[in-house]
Amino acid sequence: MSSHSDLDTLYRQVIMDHYKNPRNRGEAESGTVTVNMNNPTCGDRIQLQMHVEDDTIQDAKFVGEGCSISLSSASMMTEAVKGRPVGEALEIAEVFSDMMQGKDYDDEKYDLGDIEALQGVTKFPARIKCATLSWKAMEKGLGEDVEEDEDED
Ligand code: ZN
Repeated sequence: MSSHSDLDTLYRQVIMDHYKNPRNRGEAESGTVTVNMNNPTCGDRIQLQMHVEDDTIQDAKFVGEGCSISLSSASMMTEAVKGRPVGEALEIAEVFSDMMQGKDYDDEKYDLGDIEALQGVTKFPARIKCATLSWKAMEKGLGEDVEEDEDED
């Protein structure tokens, strides 16, 4: 077995762990921003709720339905940004975006941890939107302009 396929196996295990045991799944309690995002090409739907106070994401929770990539990514994203200042969360979203576009990404400043498992998705271009859905929801919830896919009529 080559080390490359070992890495693929590891990535798959990390993604399945977040899918089966999602972190921060549910609804946030108070002072929330709610964002709904859909990925019509795959049928993924995410509702993200954040409690932002003192320029910090005090809480981040999601509910949704969809494929293992979209839901595991939402789990990883909420884990990464919860408790972070807004500016840092947006920087991590930038790093993630670079990673998903196959660009060189800065893995020095933030420990991406499990998020790097989603790097394997870049080999399947049709699934990249699954991985980026919850991250776009987070950016939108923090007031950023994001491109959205509309449901087809
Ligand atoms: Zn999907």
